[in-house]
Amino acid sequence: MPYFKRETQKADFLRLEEDILQLWDREKTFERSVDQREGCDKFVFVEGPPTANGLPHPGHILTRVVKDLILRYKTMRGFYVKRKAGWDTHGLPVEIEVEKELGISSKPEIEKYGIENFNQKCKESVFRYEKEWVNATKRVGFWIDMDDPYITFENDYIESVWWSLKEIWNKGLLYKGHKVVPFCPRCETTLSSHEVAQGYQDVEDPSVYVKFKVKQNNESEPLYLLAWTTTPWTLLGNIALAVHPSHTYVKVRVSVKDEDRVKEDVLILAEARLDALEGEYEILERFDGKDLEDLKYEPLFEYAKIEGGEAHKVITADFVTLEEGTGIVHTAPAFGEVDYEVCREKKLGFSQPVSSNGHFTHDVPPLEGMFVKDADRLIIDMLTQRGILYKEERYLHSYPFCWRCGSPLLYYARESWFIAMTTLRDNLLANNEQISWYPEHLKYGRFGNFLDDIEDWALSRERFWGTPLNIWICSDCGQRYCVGSIKELREKAKTPVPSDIDLHRPYIDDVVLKCDACGGNMWRVKDVIDCWYDSGSAPFAQWHYPFETEKFKQNFPADFITEAIDQTRGWFYSLLGVSTAVFDAPPYLNVLSLGHIQDENGVKMSKSKGNVVDINALFDTEAADALRWYLFTAGPLTEDIRFSAQAIREKQKKFLNTLWNSYFFFVTYATIDEFNPQEKNIIPVEQRNAMDRWIISRLNTLTKDVIGAIERFEIHVAARKIEEFVVDDLSNWYIRRSRRRFWIIEENFDKDCAYLTLYEVLVSLCKLLAPFVPFVTEHIYQNIVRGVLEDERESVHLCDYPSPDESLIDAELEASMVFVSKLVEAGRRARSDAGIKIRQPLKEVVVICSKDKREKAERLTGILKEEVNVKEVKFGDEGLTSGVTAPEDYKQVEVDEATCLFLNCCPDKNLIEEGLVRDIVRRIQGMRKDIDLEYTAKIGITYACDEEVKDAIHNFSDYICDETLAVSIEEGTPPSSAEDAGSGHIYEKTWKIGDKEVYLAIKPLSLAEKD
Ligand SMILES: [Zn+2]
Ligand SMILES: [Zn+2]
Repeated sequence: MPYFKRETQKADFLRLEEDILQLWDREKTFERSVDQREGCDKFVFVEGPPTANGLPHPGHILTRVVKDLILRYKTMRGFYVKRKAGWDTHGLPVEIEVEKELGISSKPEIEKYGIENFNQKCKESVFRYEKEWVNATKRVGFWIDMDDPYITFENDYIESVWWSLKEIWNKGLLYKGHKVVPFCPRCETTLSSHEVAQGYQDVEDPSVYVKFKVKQNNESEPLYLLAWTTTPWTLLGNIALAVHPSHTYVKVRVSVKDEDRVKEDVLILAEARLDALEGEYEILERFDGKDLEDLKYEPLFEYAKIEGGEAHKVITADFVTLEEGTGIVHTAPAFGEVDYEVCREKKLGFSQPVSSNGHFTHDVPPLEGMFVKDADRLIIDMLTQRGILYKEERYLHSYPFCWRCGSPLLYYARESWFIAMTTLRDNLLANNEQISWYPEHLKYGRFGNFLDDIEDWALSRERFWGTPLNIWICSDCGQRYCVGSIKELREKAKTPVPSDIDLHRPYIDDVVLKCDACGGNMWRVKDVIDCWYDSGSAPFAQWHYPFETEKFKQNFPADFITEAIDQTRGWFYSLLGVSTAVFDAPPYLNVLSLGHIQDENGVKMSKSKGNVVDINALFDTEAADALRWYLFTAGPLTEDIRFSAQAIREKQKKFLNTLWNSYFFFVTYATIDEFNPQEKNIIPVEQRNAMDRWIISRLNTLTKDVIGAIERFEIHVAARKIEEFVVDDLSNWYIRRSRRRFWIIEENFDKDCAYLTLYEVLVSLCKLLAPFVPFVTEHIYQNIVRGVLEDERESVHLCDYPSPDESLIDAELEASMVFVSKLVEAGRRARSDAGIKIRQPLKEVVVICSKDKREKAERLTGILKEEVNVKEVKFGDEGLTSGVTAPEDYKQVEVDEATCLFLNCCPDKNLIEEGLVRDIVRRIQGMRKDIDLEYTAKIGITYACDEEVKDAIHNFSDYICDETLAVSIEEGTPPSSAEDAGSGHIYEKTWKIGDKEVYLAIKPLSLAEKD
């Protein structure tokens, strides 16, 4: 009775994976793999929560398989690895989807529709594609607990977020400020700097030079200050012109010929920026910037409405540079952070002609109701008509857009709630010190630089679907209160809070608190918070900390997180920001930042380009293991990866099919021979032959290398080493060279060694590969280990990861094999140079090399003999090098700098006969295959040929019979007519071998006996 199930030569990976998924479901393999490590050291992972209101794309698949690999690996290494799934559910992305669906696109329309209904729609939409996410997650083999995920909209989660904000509030770090903030006019809300950092694009904008007329100019001709801007619409908010106090400015007369007329202007600008002028100019006067201070100019537009202070005069400021423009900077405090600060400092006034949806207000009648960016053209025309536009150009620069809706952002003075991250800068940097980044350069580069220039976190969003900001303000005395729990909410509320209150808007807006100071009514501020704060709270909010404490304490900080590189200033930052503000501790110790997925042409996949591969369709045709293996071997995971179905298929052909073939070879013979690893007395490795010892040494070296590489998150290094082992060492060298040992029918010691060795290698390889390709390894394991080896586990994923056995590593033997394989390659090159096919045996090969190398090669001359197909291997004298010239009859090839090889290329009659016979044997073996003969079936052979070939067959008949399992070989006659051909149960064919014609016929044994 065979101990294994036979396999088909061609694997059906899709079906195999389907079966394995069912097996895991049936036997709860995932749950058991986690549970059996309970009480062991923990390896803590936090899932970066995806949003399920869109379909998963290849980038998500990449992060999911990388997470899976690391977590399976750590589990097999003996760690207790909890894997809680999570869903990110709040925020603008969700609102925008719902707005589209409802066919509305502004806040007033949402309010008209009703916040309650709107938020209900948002809540429904966040799980629209949950099924697709769950399917893709399962299908790709990502083991994560999706039955008990954390969900950012749940009351428990919100309560933890509230608690953390109150901690920050109590530290005095949560404040309301009036600041110029990046603002999306479509979403009508503030964005935080980490959101802005994600949305820069290169765009072309108008660049205008505008003449500001100096007031009370006694001279007869008008004098202008020349200023430059790339945002003409901000000119409506102009309050001042800034010059640098110590730079040199000039008054110039400029003349330009315009058709027949000569146009003249008298202008002031920085001397260093005279290039900006057109035409001829004459310098009239030179002065320092500070001499211009307080110079008054006429407002560009008569309807400018100024509040609280002076306006329209020259100020001095150090931020003015001479790199571009005119050295005179148009300053509008409503639209620029620097402008805002300098005007406040100089006690200047403020003008805000734009409403929160980015449209001009009725303060500027000709532009009223226009979106600011659309007004640029009209403003330029107005300036031209009034003769104060000096010139207009186009300007290419990097400009921020809303990361969600794509609208150009405006810098806009707003009231907003902030977390004072700037005061935590040193803490952020110190906590970052404790984190290991992969790739390392991000730590002080992209991420570290971001921390160096950290800005306060603009937390509040004037929106609807999000965690409500937990601050209440007294309408009577202005007292503020931050609520940190539902219990506190109930205690402070003036009227009873429903027991099942949903903490979202609009319900929470109705909860009125009693003011501690005056007893008056406190109302919640209407804002919700940045959804990035939600996901940044995952380490504690997923465990409902501090209302439940145990799980958080056991799971903080995380040992490992990974996401794509765009999360550097996204989730990676928000985690660190929240954790630093609340706990002053790093939330994770290792972070792996992954590259992006590109299409086959190296273009980043994106919806707008329409080049996103449909994951579900892909899984209909491609194996998950092939997809995983492709991603793991394509290159460093920290860099971008090109992705296509074609590339995955090639990977399957090269690696998975080779792995399968090795396994197929083993089970095919093991079933025939009824090999039972349990019954064999374990033969110590040192008693086995050199090939066996070598492959086992290689396996242990590989195990060591793979573990080292995974620990450094160099997944592609680990995977490529395994691939080399499977393709080159195992399949193409060990199995190919050991095949004959399995063909021998009689049992013998060497055959046992071969079986044991190949078996041990396959079992170890399964475990080593299990985290990479979990399906095919499970399939192989189920067949050759489960139920065969008594003390082994029921799934490869319940096993321990192999650890290298140093005593089985024979570095010298490995080095010898490397050298010998080089000699083999050189020997074959010599053959092909001489035009002699590999089946023709030759007399000898002579190797000239150093003593050291000679010792290496001498251990393995048998291999060299067989692979180069020579009768003898000789070594030349030490000291002779490649300078030696080849004797006659020898072909010389260089092996390396100090080694060369001579191959005798003149076979004698006997060798030629042997070569001929080998060709015949190969034909007969092919014919056996053609008629699907069992591997052990015996045959009878009949042949017809000329005298020369006849002699050869006669001299080597024993050899032919051994090789082809023939019991007889007799001379016969080829069929004389077509009628006879193929008659009877004989398979026959006439071959052309070299210049000879050879007729061969084979009969399966039972028929041969009947005859
Ligand atoms: Zn937007
Ligand atoms: Zn009050």
